Amino acid sequence: MSIRSQIRPAAVDIIRRLNQNHYEAYIVGGAVRDLLLGRTPKDFDIATEATPEQVRAVFGRGRCHIIGRRFKLAHVFYGRDTYYEVSTFRRQPNADERSDRDDDDGVLIWNDNEYGTIEEDAQRRDFTVNALYLDVIGNRGIIDFTGGLKDIDQRIVRTIGQAETRFTEDPVRMLRGLKLVGMHQMTLAPETEAAIRRLSGRIRQASVARLFDELLKIFQTDCAAAILQTCRQYGLLSALWPGLASIWNKSPGRIALAMLRARDRAVQKGDYSTSRALALATPCLPYVMNMLRSHESDTFPLWDSALNKQCGHAIRSFYDGFVLPHVLTARIRAMILMVPPLAEGVQIDYLTQQPDYKYGRELLRLLVEACRWDPALVQNLPEPGQSSSGGAGRLPRKRRRRPRRPRRTETESATEATAPDDLL
Ligand code: ATP
Ligand code: MG
Repeated sequence: MSIRSQIRPAAVDIIRRLNQNHYEAYIVGGAVRDLLLGRTPKDFDIATEATPEQVRAVFGRGRCHIIGRRFKLAHVFYGRDTYYEVSTFRRQPNADERSDRDDDDGVLIWNDNEYGTIEEDAQRRDFTVNALYLDVIGNRGIIDFTGGLKDIDQRIVRTIGQAETRFTEDPVRMLRGLKLVGMHQMTLAPETEAAIRRLSGRIRQASVARLFDELLKIFQTDCAAAILQTCRQYGLLSALWPGLASIWNKSPGRIALAMLRARDRAVQKGDYSTSRALALATPCLPYVMNMLRSHESDTFPLWDSALNKQCGHAIRSFYDGFVLPHVLTARIRAMILMVPPLAEGVQIDYLTQQPDYKYGRELLRLLVEACRWDPALVQNLPEPGQSSSGGAGRLPRKRRRRPRRPRRTETESATEATAPDDLL
């Protein structure tokens, strides 16, 4: 199937309308890269010579919203909820232009809004494989100013321009580069690799909000485990995510990675929950369980205030360095604290009534798969939405005896993580 034929018709339609109004416009960035790599793009971004105001004039105020103040973008809507991002060709500001800015620190890049030519637009992008433009209407095919086609062919991630400069301008690019390596089994160009190894500590100079966004984006892929492994391999993990790096070679770390692999497999099959709290709870569960293992209490976990407090503290320490909103911490805690009683088969009637039951059950399923325990441990629990044998909403009473250690299945392999006895 040709690449053009895989572009969503609405994106082609937007480009056609812009062309009819005498503006150049192309599909750009991740979509072109993914199609050339034989993957299905998750979105189709459009780059054009039209300014956001000109794009709005073409599509009308009803269908086109301009977002951003300094760095303006047009969102062109198809239906109520679907929109395509249309960005104007821009160029990186030069040193003189930067020095006039009061938010300039001489190094880190700011959101520039200087319009430019298509070639300048290519040069300001991060990697050669991300700077390809696909002409879907005319006959220019794929336009390549930076050698991206060759790099796609050889599966090489290479910065545009000098790697040290580009990573210093914006340290998030290091993470973006390693994400490409982990997702597409690519390799880093030597200069790009050397710069990441040298500058990895600087990732913390990026805004915590952007880093948290990138982390959430990693969890939206079906390669989270491979991406984090790549970050570890190239020395970025300890600066990026000290909580995960600190347990990497220990039992909770191995289980966390195996749970993420199980989650990636589920995401690959499609139809997986997009809950951010569930995604964040997944690698966190073994860490928290390990930290709380000495906690002795007769109170049901969800109602044990000391346990709740410690659990919240453990979650925050695992995600130290990211900005985890309180509401997400509370939801992650609710899910995690549900896992031990679900595994023990305690107060199941009560738990099935909880709003986060399906996520608590899913977390347990990932743990069972990661540790190759007996799947019946989860299969015997009621499906979400299906009420169990009466007793709805009953308050939990005293915790019952500790459970038998789950039995492993015969397929257990020595290389997979196995949970420590006291994890649950
Ligand atoms: P994904 O599949 O994750 O969306 P993507 O490459 O499309 O991958 P986006 O964040 O959607 O990533 O960015 C779109 C394009 O914008 C990129 O392909 C790249 O050309 C450019 N870009 C994004 N972030 C940066 C950055 N920090 N520095 C330079 N260019 C960037
Ligand atoms: Mg994209």
